[in-house]
Formats: sequence, C-alpha cells, structure tokens
Amino acid sequence: MKPTVAVHGGAGRWSLDEERKRAVLKTLREAVEEGLTAAERGSAVDAVTAAVEYMERSGLFNAGYGSVYAIDGRVYLDAGVMDGKTGRAGAVAAVEGVRSAVRLARFVMEQTDHVIIACEGARLLAAKAGLLEPHHKFYNEEKNKRFQEVLEEARRGRWHYKKVLELAGDTVGAVALDRDGNLAAATSTGGVWLKWPGRVGDSPIPGAGYYAENGVGAFSATGVGEVILLMLLSYRARNELVKTGDVAQAVKNVVQQATEAFGPDTVGIIALDAKGNPAYAYNTKAMARGWGKQGEIYVDL
Ligand code: ASP
Repeated sequence: MKPTVAVHGGAGRWSLDEERKRAVLKTLREAVEEGLTAAERGSAVDAVTAAVEYMERSGLFNAGYGSVYAIDGRVYLDAGVMDGKTGRAGAVAAVEGVRSAVRLARFVMEQTDHVIIACEGARLLAAKAGLLEPHHKFYNEEKNKRFQEVLEEARRGRWHYKKVLELAGDTVGAVALDRDGNLAAATSTGGVWLKWPGRVGDSPIPGAGYYAENGVGAFSATGVGEVILLMLLSYRARNELVKTGDVAQAVKNVVQQATEAFGPDTVGIIALDAKGNPAYAYNTKAMARGWGKQGEIYVDL
C-alpha cells in the first residue's frame, strides 16, 4: 500500500494576512512531507507523530510552542495518539513545559500501562522521557498581547465560555496509513484561550479527539472540545464509516449531527479510510488541512 498522510491545523475563523496564510500552508505541506518520510521508513504511528510534532514546533498553530494561554496566563497542553494496529492509545492532559506533547502521549502508549496521564504526573513522565522544555519557550509577546485582548473582551462580557469557538481553533492533528495497511491518528493542542487550569478537552480522549482502527479508518477532530467530547465525534465518525462504507459521507454526517445538536461553528474533522482515501468536513468558516501520498500533496485553508 502507498503510505498516505492527512493533517489539519484547526477549524475556526482563520482570517489571516497573506504572509501568515502562506506560512500556514507551507507548514501544512511540510508536515505532510514529514509524515510521509516517517511512513516510508516506519509505521503509521511514526507518521502521525512526526507530522504533529512538526506542527507543534512551528509555533504557528495552537499546539506546542504556539499554544494559547489558560485564564491564569499559563500554557497547558493536551495530546493523544492511537495505533490502529494494536488498538492502544496514549495521551497527556493539562501538562506544562513539555517539548512535544504528542511524543509524550506516545511514550504513555508505549512505555506505560496507562492511557491518559495528567498534570504533574505527566511532567514527571516527561522528565523520564527527556521531554521537559523550559517554560519560557511557550510564551511570547504576540501571545501576551492576544491574552490581554481576550481577557479584556471577556471582562466586557463579549464571550461566554459556552460559545468558545473564537477562543478555540488551530489545534493540530494527523491521520496516516502505512505500507502495511496500518492506520494511526494523533491530535495535539493548547486547548482554548482562557480555559480553566486543569480543563481537559477532547484532544487527549480516544474516540473524541482522535481514533484509529485497522481495516476501518483513522480520525482527528478539532473545534470546541466540549462539543467533540459530548459527541465522541471521532468514534461516531468511525461508526458512520462502518455503516455507510463511504468516508466522505461519514465525516459529513457527523459534522451535520454536531451542527444540529450544538449549532454551526463548532467542529471539524479529518479522516482516512482503510484504503487511504482522505476526507474532511467542518461547520466553521475554515479549516487548515492537507493530505498527500508519494509525490502529490494538497493543502488548503
Ligand atoms: N479541540 C480543542 C480543544 O477544545 C481546540 C481546537 O480544536 O482548536 O481543546
């Protein structure tokens, strides 16, 4: 089978100037390339980890160095990964100062008996895995400024936490199929602006923010975490795929269900079926996304 990788850089508004837009599209393309190179040499899990880590490091998205601030002005990361071959998943939640949350999630999957490790316990594990990173790397002037703006808007009552789409967006995720037909999925995020410290979103929860099952499909979701959690969006898309046999129809159906239950501007999802057919759907203004296999890569925003 030809390795295939699809990525997203979050569902949201994405009103960017041209320069920033070019940078986002370039990074999406490079993330697909990273994933494909990893899949050529290794597994679907290698591919999704490489693609997501590349986007975490870019600082352009709400993941890794680009992560948004919680209401206490600090950065807490969530990430998860799932191996469709073994059915195992690993995740970290509300963890600070970690070089790559998706790598740490993979460490949980491969080196522990657990599925999700949160907060200080995740940092302890990051120390063992050699993944601790100085805190200052997660903070910069641009984000400090944005934090003051969102705080001010929240004080003026413009935002209710129940309508957080403007506070979410730009989470990253990847799905991959390798030469041997194995599927994997991963998602990584800083969550949403002004989230409560300790808030856990959908991104580290298997079946919500991501899901992979060999012979069926792989999925990575983005949008308002609370909506994705309550709908178990990725597992729901898996069920729709089993039912309809059509991955494009499956993601379309679950996004429509999210719109009916929670309104527009709430979710987005990318997927691959067992043959490597890619699909995406979203009910937000835009979703940064890309997919590719040997020699052909497409990106859009
Ligand atoms: N789903 C993420 C969260 O709520 C945010 C996003 O996708 O942008 O943590």
